[in-house]
Amino acid sequence: MEAYDSPAFRMACQQFDAVADHLQMPQAERPRLKYPKRSLIVSLPINCEDGTQKVYTGFRVQHHLTLGPTKGGLRFHPDVTLGEVAALAMWMSWKCALTGLPYGGAKGGIACDPHRMAPREVERLTRRYTQEMIPFIGPQVDVMAPDMGTNEQVMAWIMDSYSMHMGYSVPSIVTGKPLSLGGSVGRREATGRGVAHLVARAADTIGLDLKTATVAVQGFGNVGSVAALTLESYGATVVAVSDVSGGVFNARGLDLEKLAKHLAKERTLHGFTEAEAITNDQVLLTPCDVLVPAAMERQITGDNAGRIQCRILAEGANGPTTPEADAILSRREDVFVLPDILCNAGGVVVSYFEWVQDLQSFFWSETEVMEKLYRILDESYDRVLHSSRSRNISMRTAALCAGIQRVREAKAIRGLFP
Ligand code: GLU
Repeated sequence: MEAYDSPAFRMACQQFDAVADHLQMPQAERPRLKYPKRSLIVSLPINCEDGTQKVYTGFRVQHHLTLGPTKGGLRFHPDVTLGEVAALAMWMSWKCALTGLPYGGAKGGIACDPHRMAPREVERLTRRYTQEMIPFIGPQVDVMAPDMGTNEQVMAWIMDSYSMHMGYSVPSIVTGKPLSLGGSVGRREATGRGVAHLVARAADTIGLDLKTATVAVQGFGNVGSVAALTLESYGATVVAVSDVSGGVFNARGLDLEKLAKHLAKERTLHGFTEAEAITNDQVLLTPCDVLVPAAMERQITGDNAGRIQCRILAEGANGPTTPEADAILSRREDVFVLPDILCNAGGVVVSYFEWVQDLQSFFWSETEVMEKLYRILDESYDRVLHSSRSRNISMRTAALCAGIQRVREAKAIRGLFP
């Protein structure tokens, strides 16, 4: 599987191998479970606003189709590669399996910088990507959703392009759509609210009072901002926040409303005067009770894991902690880790609700959505905590074991075709 070789893919494989060792899984059984089922790379020529043509590269990786369609986000970011997308697809598989969703994992991406493109260029790129993906996706095959650099508008363009091809409206082709197109109430907030809900559960577990707790958040996108606002509504004080431009710190607490207004206007945290400017790395090392990495992969590393100063590490991002960092954290009894595939699962859980609602053309209230979401997250948290405590393994190993075991059992009982 050299085609996928990249730091993120190596990391995902390393995590898998460690869990397979723990489960004493025979070597012969591993490749079928570990490697992605199939991938598509596409060339995407578009007409630019300046009259030139440009060709972008797009990817989609489907990790396994054993339990149903594949599910996972679409990322627009300059650093997107096939290997990164494959790692993210693998993590989606374990996340969906852990939370009991009838999906395999997938992820897609286009190597581009949407913030430096005209909106019409982003639209053309999205539509062309959808067109090229038509043989590879479908409501019963592979269902996309927002991820870094994409949003409800991008999902609406995908839904429209796919529906125009089919000749009728197909809302269930994507989740994270605008409400007016068959989106679900609560989907936009689901990941961040889920993070905050699980932080509250973890705080209970370790005896931390959230009303006096401080929070630092790396990344102030959809996940980081909603997690910060929700934790604030629980009584916590958000003292540090960062985005790609750097970080801001205020020991008395940041005014998140003013911060959001500043961001909406300037599109960067840079220049926010009611706080001290700090670097992105300093945000991770800020003394706080709750640290929420909600940006890219591989941020907590062998280099800084010994120096982070939080009691709960709540992984809003996918893959923010490297295996080297994990080795250090497992020796640090002062840090309680909420692993990514549990901590940020709220997004895909409500995506699943959206897909079910679209298939039934019958829509739920916000109360129903949130109640069902918290029930699934609570049940998953209880299971992972119990397994971590009773088998004396880390929360990450416990979560990955649960996810991997479910896919393993399904593959075993289905058998091999032909
Ligand atoms: N991109 C999100 C994730 O990483 C959501 C995926 C989805 O809703 O399908 O979990």
